[in-house]
Amino acid sequence: MTGLVYKSTGSWYTVKTNLGAAYQCRIKGKFRLKGIKSTNPIAVGDVVDFELETNNDNVTGVIHTIHDRKNYIVRKSVNLSKQTHIIASNIDQVFLLITIDNPPTFTSFIDRFLVTAQAYAVKTILLFNKIDTYSDDTLAEVKYLAHIYRKIGYECIGISAETGKNVDKVKALMVDKVSMFAGHSGVGKSTLVNAIEPDLDLKTKAISTQHSQGQHTTTFAEMFDLSFNAKIIDTPGIKGFGIVDMDKEEVGDYFPEFFELKQDCKFNNCLHVEEPKCAVKEALDKDEISYSRYRSYLQILDGEEEHYRTDNWEE
Ligand code: GDP
Ligand code: ZN
Repeated sequence: MTGLVYKSTGSWYTVKTNLGAAYQCRIKGKFRLKGIKSTNPIAVGDVVDFELETNNDNVTGVIHTIHDRKNYIVRKSVNLSKQTHIIASNIDQVFLLITIDNPPTFTSFIDRFLVTAQAYAVKTILLFNKIDTYSDDTLAEVKYLAHIYRKIGYECIGISAETGKNVDKVKALMVDKVSMFAGHSGVGKSTLVNAIEPDLDLKTKAISTQHSQGQHTTTFAEMFDLSFNAKIIDTPGIKGFGIVDMDKEEVGDYFPEFFELKQDCKFNNCLHVEEPKCAVKEALDKDEISYSRYRSYLQILDGEEEHYRTDNWEE
């Protein structure tokens, strides 16, 4: 049988078949995946093959095969081993909620998020939330940002989770897909999910699985079926996608507007910083690429530990 992993508690996985039947499944013996060293062999979103077992009238499943993942997002565990934990896989899209104020979302955060999502091969849609509360000036800022991000290929929608404005547009994009919601705490993720599907109260669900001290919510992701043929993956306690380990040369690959230009840079390993005849910097001078995007790019480069060298350009 084949099914989709909806929930994982470490040793048991809830797997649903196409027909909607849910089975508690486990993994038999050692289960190693090629290429990925993670603390969890199977994650929410995985498509798996399993066989049923009956023990004293109790039917459970044994997973024996995992299908190739389209994508997956990870976090590094904070302990010393720095092992990778796969949070979720096979994500069709992530909606990044942005508010201009209350709380502010800075472009540096948006751009870091987009770089990571791009590196994970997860499509991102930008939702500018709380537009019902904005002044004309703030709305102009939303318009300006939406223009910047649309120009480089990201879909942008101004919404109000509170009044329901454009929530139908978000719903329409979710049909037949697996979606996630991300953004700073307080941007309106729970309010939006609640507007989309009033009966699915994720906040309550997260609280109900809180540890007894009430300290932190569970970090186990969970997939939910919505009433209109859409699925969401909730990742309590995970705000963004973190930052992927990448080489300096790679960072520019995840800025779509740099990607085509870089073929015209004089040096094929151009980092677009101080190199002469750099097509990215020329485009920046001509206002063809956004300065805030370029500044975010430099910040990400700066965040790397390895010192930036200018003496080994290759032509
Ligand atoms: P989360 O931390 O991202 O899940 O944010 P919440 O959904 O808890 O929202 C934080 C606060 O912002 C709550 O008080 C919401 O009522 C409020 N809020 C969320 N979306 C909107 C919106 O579109 N308009 C207004 N006026 N308030 C909103
Ligand atoms: Zn360049």
